[in-house]
Amino acid sequence: MRIVSALAAALLLAALLVMGINAGPESRLIIVYYDGWEQLRQLASLGLQILNYQGDVLAALSYDEQIEALRRVGFPVRIVDPAAEPQAYYLAYPYPASDRSALCEAEAAYPYASDVFIVRATPARAERLALRGVDIVKLPRSIALPSPQPMTAALQASPAYSPAVQAMVDAVSPTLLIHHVCKLQDRDQLTYCNELGTRFSYASTGIDEAAQYLYDEHRGLGLLVMYDPFLHNSTPMTNVVAELPGVGPDSNHVYVLSAHYDSLSEDPENVAPGADDNASGCAAVLEAARILSQHEFSHTIRFIHFAGEEQGLFGSAHYAEQALQRGDWIDGVVNLDMIAFESVPPADHIVEIHAGTDPSSLALADAFIGSILDYGLLLTPQEIGVGATWRADHSSFWSRGYPAILGIEDFDDFNPHYHGARDTLANMNTQLMVEYTKAAVATIAELASSHRSSPTPTPTPTLAPLRMYLPLVNENSH
Ligand SMILES: [Zn+2]
Repeated sequence: MRIVSALAAALLLAALLVMGINAGPESRLIIVYYDGWEQLRQLASLGLQILNYQGDVLAALSYDEQIEALRRVGFPVRIVDPAAEPQAYYLAYPYPASDRSALCEAEAAYPYASDVFIVRATPARAERLALRGVDIVKLPRSIALPSPQPMTAALQASPAYSPAVQAMVDAVSPTLLIHHVCKLQDRDQLTYCNELGTRFSYASTGIDEAAQYLYDEHRGLGLLVMYDPFLHNSTPMTNVVAELPGVGPDSNHVYVLSAHYDSLSEDPENVAPGADDNASGCAAVLEAARILSQHEFSHTIRFIHFAGEEQGLFGSAHYAEQALQRGDWIDGVVNLDMIAFESVPPADHIVEIHAGTDPSSLALADAFIGSILDYGLLLTPQEIGVGATWRADHSSFWSRGYPAILGIEDFDDFNPHYHGARDTLANMNTQLMVEYTKAAVATIAELASSHRSSPTPTPTPTLAPLRMYLPLVNENSH
């Protein structure tokens, strides 16, 4: 593919801008093949209304003149939905990947990247897709790309062993982690580990009890805690957000450790214990909060439990959008989702760190893997770049231009109890959860105490995130 020359870029910019401000029925959903992060950034800066990107392909809303302009400068473009409906698209990951029969629940399904489709669906059809086992991710009307200046201090952090961080790693308690999973997998908290709980997003009580449990646990540590409520399809849902404020001039920089707390199964109203998916991640966040809250850091740390993940990442999408609107400086998000399963044998301890192709997110993944190595943890990390998944809450931050990674178990050794009534503590590998929690503690501790080599930008912290947001002109059109 030809590199976009200055002249061609000018032509493309003119076509994109002129047409981009008109929103109308003639917009088309297109798939564009591109080559590398710089080209992706170039397309975004020229005003293409990107809905999603993968390693070498992106989805966008576009008009005929834009499509011609893209083709003229050498981009292969495929029109997949000639009469686009901007708010109706989801990424869809059939499970198992070879069984695509459930995609018939959508109005239309378009092959996109490896094992992932773009589907067009009403909210009701999207719910049916999720209940038939398809992981779905609601696509925003347009995304923001990260600032060209990497925001994460991870790039500057020189990974070095620290006895102070070693002490925090050593403080991780397997007993407390298991205790949290027990509490979360039960509906009836009086009955310990009865394997009959549900944290289905629409369940009448279990999900609220879980939110209350998370809130109380964080408050018991002395942290600032708040509910972050939102409506999804007129159902009230809430994230739970706890904060450990940073100390000093860099405290406006934030690191997030997160995990969704809702769960799913074939009979979710009654039984959805979700121990691995994702009481394990929530337990890690709680335990990291317990340990880190006993120390001071120069950066602010937020511990967040997201709701509505299984319906299409709605809690994290809400949070990331609000963070961008507020102008929060989130330097990195470490999201944990399913960190407690592996088959024994082989007990190879392989875990996947999904970073995508953004340099800041890759630096964050390097920091996480560096922690695993520095503290001798029993994990075999694999960094996933081009093929990284969007099917967890970290991707809501990617869509809003924030660096983020997903920590998850080995996809090639997939939990057979996934989204089932047997996803319980009894079927978990607690050692993997313990080691993962240690890695999260070490990574957040190191990042949150790192010193920035460049001065902190003067107040008006909204400037940088908003500036990268604005070129996507269609976001503001109606
Ligand atoms: Zn999950």
